[in-house]
Amino acid sequence: MAPRCWRWWHWSAWPRTWPPPARSTPSFRQHFSTQEKTPQICVVGSGPAGFYTAQYLLKHHPQAHVDIYEKQLVPFGLVRFGVAPDHPEVKNVINTFTQTAHSDRCAFWGNVEVGRDVTVPELQEAYHAVVLSYGAEDHQALDIPGEELPGVFSARSFVGWYNGLPENQELAPDLSCDTAVILGQGNVALDVARILLTPPEHLEKTDITKAALGVLRQSQVKTVWLVGRRGPLQVAFTIKELREMIQLPGTRPILDPEEFLGLQDRIKEIPRPRKRLTELLLQTATQKPRAEEAAHLASGSRAWGLRFFRSPQQVLPSPDGRRVAGIRLAVTRLEGVGEAIRAVPTGDMEDLPCGLVLSSIGYKSRPIDPSVPFDLKLGVIPNMEGRVVDVPGLYCSGWVKTGPTGVIGTTMNDSFLTGQMLLQDLKSGLLASGPRPGSAAIQALLSSRGVRPVSFSDWEKLDAKEVAQGQGSGKPREKLVDRQEMLRLLGR
Ligand code: FAD
Ligand code: NAP
Repeated sequence: MAPRCWRWWHWSAWPRTWPPPARSTPSFRQHFSTQEKTPQICVVGSGPAGFYTAQYLLKHHPQAHVDIYEKQLVPFGLVRFGVAPDHPEVKNVINTFTQTAHSDRCAFWGNVEVGRDVTVPELQEAYHAVVLSYGAEDHQALDIPGEELPGVFSARSFVGWYNGLPENQELAPDLSCDTAVILGQGNVALDVARILLTPPEHLEKTDITKAALGVLRQSQVKTVWLVGRRGPLQVAFTIKELREMIQLPGTRPILDPEEFLGLQDRIKEIPRPRKRLTELLLQTATQKPRAEEAAHLASGSRAWGLRFFRSPQQVLPSPDGRRVAGIRLAVTRLEGVGEAIRAVPTGDMEDLPCGLVLSSIGYKSRPIDPSVPFDLKLGVIPNMEGRVVDVPGLYCSGWVKTGPTGVIGTTMNDSFLTGQMLLQDLKSGLLASGPRPGSAAIQALLSSRGVRPVSFSDWEKLDAKEVAQGQGSGKPREKLVDRQEMLRLLGR
């Protein structure tokens, strides 16, 4: 449900004059004023939301100038640090983003962390409009005892580790155990399970990092359980990703036909696309494989399984208390109907032994700056179609606007909508009318604070280096994972 403030707030409540005089310090303006009559817009974050918002603005306003600020040294957000290495086709969107970055009305400023290196009010002062597209950089905590034990990781950091996110390179997951448990049944959970179970030689030609591939080659993990608090009709993953799991070489699915009882009779009433997904689950759980196929499956040394109606209660420690040895799950049943169906505990408990727990129950956005409203409960910036509630000239797009769900396509549509609202406001005269200094003012501020941004052409140098590094081993690239090394390569 929308938070209270969304209901009473209406766009028409925005002041007609913006910015308020107090913000427009004359010295700031005089010093940096340019002759430009073009709208100066900045976007915070260079993931799909940032790039698609920029693309929309540039396409639909012939004079608009868009600066994209990014805290990493490299662009593209989760397309680089989230999308699985064995899904290279998904990363083709980078070509479109690169075209946008090459526009002479667009600039990329990497190595700038908004909220730390520059504040949002400083950006508002320098630009006609600011769009916050900084994604969801945190993970949803389990909030159960034992969560801090060695051997428990968030899927977010595990994904960051195999995808080369600099801050996750120290993760060093110990894969010497036989069984791993993934909590959650979304597409991220399936990505992680697939990477754990894919024969490493099948990952050799992807952009997975060399270090992660080395650890996966030594992995002893044979069985991966994906645990859901609700049932087969509520899984959050999609059919393509399920099919990939079913077809994993040398790996067999373990689905308990008991858990699918009665589902066959309900198939007809399930709307698509969940109907097709459920049919595939049911078929995998109940269909007896042909003799040849059965022999092939039985020979599979690795396995994955779905456990339904189980909610995590406690991470169990090993006898010496030094690492994870299992997970205690509350058995659940469903209550409610439709979208409101939720899992409630039956009172029964079950312990599942394992040596690795990966929590994949969702990502989470953080507040960026005290001046920006933030709904801590929903983990989003309160907004109306991308207009930040009560802050004229401030917009948001992507996961920080919608919450951490949706694929790149949905993020694109959402970002176009934010771009549309912004341009509507510009046309209606609701944004500041005088010239704004844009990046000139921000670069001066950053320089005074010792922050040295990197440009898109700097990224292209790093990109060329990565591609060259990958060539020897037939990989599309060998990612640079060390910020200091990247800066050194850029002559910093
Ligand atoms: P992000 O992609 O997270 O981009 C946010 C950007 O903001 C980042 O670059 C971040 O560094 C930057 N930033 C954060 N804070 C600051 C700050 N303070 N200052 C400056 N910059 C900042 N979708 C698909 O269609 N196909 C897939 O295969 C797929 N795989 C996925 C795999 C995983 C593991 C995950 C988590 C998601 C996947 N998705 C996939 C979904 C897709 O990645 C998202 O829909 C999309 O990335 C959301 O875009 P965004 O721009 O809102 O966030
Ligand atoms: P998600 O799809 O929202 O799935 C989260 C899972 O965690 C659900 O099974 C959810 O169960 C469970 N969960 C949440 N809170 C829980 C709790 N407290 N205890 C136990 N279980 C809990 O999130 P995601 O997997 O992080 O994916 C995020 C988005 O990225 C999705 O839209 C996804 O499709 C997209 N993505 C796409 C791809 C792809 O296209 N290949 C790959 C990765 C990610 P309930 O349903 O019961 O809440």
